[in-house]
Amino acid sequence: MMTSATPACHGPLPLYAIGLGSNRRHARHGDPRQVLLAALDALEAADVEPVDVSPIIASDPIGPSRRRYANAVALVASPLSPPEMLERLQAIEAEFGRRSGQRWSARTLDLDILLWSGGAWSDPDVTIPHPALAERAFVLGPLRMIAPEWRHPLTRRSIRQLAARLIRPKPVDRSAEAH
Ligand code: ATP
Ligand code: CA
Ligand code: CA
Repeated sequence: MMTSATPACHGPLPLYAIGLGSNRRHARHGDPRQVLLAALDALEAADVEPVDVSPIIASDPIGPSRRRYANAVALVASPLSPPEMLERLQAIEAEFGRRSGQRWSARTLDLDILLWSGGAWSDPDVTIPHPALAERAFVLGPLRMIAPEWRHPLTRRSIRQLAARLIRPKPVDRSAEAH
């Protein structure tokens, strides 16, 4: 488990947190959980070194598809730039037969860049941190298991804090009550 407050790097290399999701069987690899295990293998490369991986969780569907998702988060050390990393992830998605098309539809494999130790990044193809990071329990849950102290580079809140905010019920505004 990684505990440093701001994981600047792993050895000499920057770190990425990669979100993995699947809600569709793959003919060869099997069910979504097995798809994620195969995707973790595919992610490993000479220039993408696995550092840690969360447990695989099952989460409820979002959007129009009614299939349940398998989700996980991996930490990898890599010298690739964010655009190079996105290209790599999209090549792996394509290998797993992901068809481009409707967002949130049934998909064999979705790989998102969640965080990068280089901080924030924004270009027309890549935004880091992932814009929905702070609103998604299926991302923050697994991420908290492996990088609870990693701070969002813009809000400076730790993953632990972001996860707690999401789960904790909002306080009731009692000033509006008569008694
Ligand atoms: P969401 O981004 O809400 O999780 P999604 O993963 O279903 O939705 P996709 O269809 O996989 O969305 O990707 C849409 C586009 O998002 C990609 O073509 C990519 O250029 C862009 N993108 C921007 N930032 C990122 C990021 N941090 N990681 C992955 N893709 C990103
Ligand atoms: Ca996604
Ligand atoms: Ca995606």
